[in-house]
Amino acid sequence: REKLLEVKNLKKHFNVGKNAVLKAVDNVSFDIYKGETLGLVGESGCGKSTTGRTIIRLYEATGGNVAFEGEDVHGKKSRKELKSFNRRMQMIFQDPYASLNPRMTIKDIIAEGIDIHGLAKNDKERMERIYELLETVGLNRAHASRYPHEFSGGQRQRIGIARALAVDPEFIIADEPISALDVSIQAQVVNLLMKLQKERGLTYLFIAHDLSMVKHISDRVGVMYLGNIVELAASDELYEEPLHPYTQALLSAIPVPDPEVERSRERIILEGDLPSPISPPSGCRFRTRCPHAMDVCASKDPKWMEAREGHWVACHLYDNELNTENKQQ
Ligand code: SF4
Ligand code: MG
Repeated sequence: REKLLEVKNLKKHFNVGKNAVLKAVDNVSFDIYKGETLGLVGESGCGKSTTGRTIIRLYEATGGNVAFEGEDVHGKKSRKELKSFNRRMQMIFQDPYASLNPRMTIKDIIAEGIDIHGLAKNDKERMERIYELLETVGLNRAHASRYPHEFSGGQRQRIGIARALAVDPEFIIADEPISALDVSIQAQVVNLLMKLQKERGLTYLFIAHDLSMVKHISDRVGVMYLGNIVELAASDELYEEPLHPYTQALLSAIPVPDPEVERSRERIILEGDLPSPISPPSGCRFRTRCPHAMDVCASKDPKWMEAREGHWVACHLYDNELNTENKQQ
């Protein structure tokens, strides 16, 4: 498989008042392969949106790097190169209400990117492209001259998708694109995104706060907790054999349709509140809520390691070196 994106030790820290630093994203590393969907999941405030926004350069990274087809995204680049990245990497936002300018018609919203990147030779070509995009996302040409407020939430998200597609991107970051929508509409938007991926060979980073939301669409899933990715694996494997205690707890909270299985399952209740990301616990950040926490968890950061092929985890329980050391002592 070919890598499209390589994220290495990515950091995004914010200064939040005197001597206080919010480490929203702290040393996050993962790859995204061409044509796949990587789901990124975690509670609100865990840094998943910040990860997406930093990758796409809406935020300047504090450290680490991002390579897109081997090219450094964050290094000093000419305007022309930046423009090319801007075209190839697009974002779909959570709130289709807030992300569409209410004073612009749908046509003008979609035309913006087309014009910036010079993708239409003339008015006729531009309009053809806009009509085609509207049809692609399940709207029609009559919608082109209307304003965002005339549409439902699901339709607005379709407009957001059309706007992202207008510049022919290769990679799309979808930041909680269905969280604000009615449950009945969520599946429609997910299905549309999957269809577009197939037709256009798109690669997605799909951000959500709930593991059940990304299950259907993701090839692989990463789980974030307090600015770190704690586990990443192929979807089937992650849902069936989660290794990290946090992932195990999240999964245990999702009801299973089979009542017999549901009855026999044990729900893992996490003790305590989510700690402040401004002063996260030492060592493993999850230790204050982890049912398996050991002494070493307070003093040592767990390594990000490949516990099984393609299955990454950061937890001392799977660190064989550490466990042998402990036995010898
Ligand atoms: Fe729990 Fe320790 Fe693993 Fe952290 S490193 S998840 S505290 S067992
Ligand atoms: Mg968010």
